[in-house]
Amino acid sequence: MPHPSRSAKKKNIKYIFVTGGVMSGVGKGIASASIGAILQSRGLSVTAVKIDPYVNVDAGTMNPTEHGEVFVLDDGTECDQDMGNYERFLNKSLSGADYMTTGSVYKAVIDRERSMGYGGKCVEVVPHIPLEIIDRITRAAQHAAADVVITEIGGTVGEYQNVLFLEAVRMLKIKHPEDILLVLISYLPMMNDDNEQKTKPTQYAVRALNAAGLQPDLILARAKHPLDKKRKEKIAFNCNLREEDVISAPDVGSVYDIPVNFEKDGVGNRIVQKLGLSARRGRLDGWRLLGKKARTAKKTVTIGIVGKYFSSGAFVLTDAYISVIEAVKHGALAAGVKPQIEWIDSEQFEKNPAALKSLDAYNGIVVPGGFGSRGVEGKIAAIGYCRRRGIPYFGLCYGMQLAVVEYARSVLKMRSAHTTEIDAKTAHPVIDILPEQKKLMAENNYGGTMRLGAWPAVLAKGSIAAAAYGVGKISERHRHRYEVNPEYVGRLQKGGVVFSGTSPDARLMEIMELPKAVHPFFVGTQFHPELLSRPFAPHPLFVAFMKAAAGCIKKKSL
Ligand code: GLN
Repeated sequence: MPHPSRSAKKKNIKYIFVTGGVMSGVGKGIASASIGAILQSRGLSVTAVKIDPYVNVDAGTMNPTEHGEVFVLDDGTECDQDMGNYERFLNKSLSGADYMTTGSVYKAVIDRERSMGYGGKCVEVVPHIPLEIIDRITRAAQHAAADVVITEIGGTVGEYQNVLFLEAVRMLKIKHPEDILLVLISYLPMMNDDNEQKTKPTQYAVRALNAAGLQPDLILARAKHPLDKKRKEKIAFNCNLREEDVISAPDVGSVYDIPVNFEKDGVGNRIVQKLGLSARRGRLDGWRLLGKKARTAKKTVTIGIVGKYFSSGAFVLTDAYISVIEAVKHGALAAGVKPQIEWIDSEQFEKNPAALKSLDAYNGIVVPGGFGSRGVEGKIAAIGYCRRRGIPYFGLCYGMQLAVVEYARSVLKMRSAHTTEIDAKTAHPVIDILPEQKKLMAENNYGGTMRLGAWPAVLAKGSIAAAAYGVGKISERHRHRYEVNPEYVGRLQKGGVVFSGTSPDARLMEIMELPKAVHPFFVGTQFHPELLSRPFAPHPLFVAFMKAAAGCIKKKSL
């Protein structure tokens, strides 16, 4: 019999905080998610929290070219794309309780003050803001019944905007010194490819943490190449660590290789020992197999993503479509093919319609979600080309709405058909604003007000969608204000469109498709299937799309 007092003793929750040094974009999200996967493989229950330092209350109002994709959770929370990384790596759904921004924290504190929640006390930035942060992290861990909660602090140490989050770590550490682990993800630049990896910026990042009253317990040193012993010694000596606490985190071919790579350098053991966790020896067999499958796939399937959120100055930025990219990869893994993803700027088809011929080089085309008028006619032209040429097509949200517009214009001869998002006065509003959205827009009430999160849909028997899912009822995540206009559903159906998924009350068209006899794969979804696709649970529609793309012989140009 275990000692009664001991068995009754509640296990302490362990908190891992992940911060970034030197520069942004060092891969804190993927590193946090990979640490989570490693701990999960050791039988621990893990959850993750993301802190965004922005004053925006959520990510819903942020421009994707600036902030990357807006990820949506089941409960409708619009959040940072890293929440998608956590869900994919941990293979579990998170909630709004696992996400916070500076704006949401301040808003909660101010709202509480307004309702006398502080009982007439002076409410101050310190300690009340960090206390609210600590409270949220603790609640997230309790809600998930987690052994370990991994919290990623957005931004880079040394900048002003995440100071209060670091203060929260410091305050929590005073109370629970043995339950906190601080990880710094740093970067080692090189002047030339064959030159020494420089450790000084990392040393400065640690000094910035020290100035905030914190000392990292582990440093994950991101670099182009693996770290040599000399570099590890140097970082360890200058940053008050032991050599084995400096982990080499070189660039890898696929993000899904990272858990295995981290384990090679002993991340799991270091964390388990430092936090005094009782955990079994980890096995990352599933992750290894995933990597092997990706490396050994022979046939290359080229997928073009037609969008507009690509350019950032002189650079191509693909962060706006990260979940789409990952979902294509998951579908490819399931279909046993190697995906090659290419970016197609839709505006080129507006300037030069002859460029549409270039689409023949693709095995499949995706038009992902989007808003506004820029590039829309180019997208519609690309969709029409795929339809006529039998190129597998997958439209996600806007990509579905525009497929309906294209069909109405070209096949049903409603030449001026459009979505009222772009042309409010069109004679054929085949896509129209959801009735409940009209009032919100009139009031400029934009934040968190779209049709958001998980909604159920029922599938039509015998459809491509029903065959892919293998079930009759599904739940998918949404983010939109417009929908197929119910007044046009009958005419579209008569003209050949199959609405293979609808809301249970049949009011909203959730999936459109063309019959197999007409086209090898032409499917559009009002929801965002990419948000639910995971490496160990690929989304059925992405699997079906990749299989169709793999089976589609490239057409010769017209
Ligand atoms: N702009 C469209 C709407 O609001 C599509 C949104 C999206 O693609 N996420 O309905």
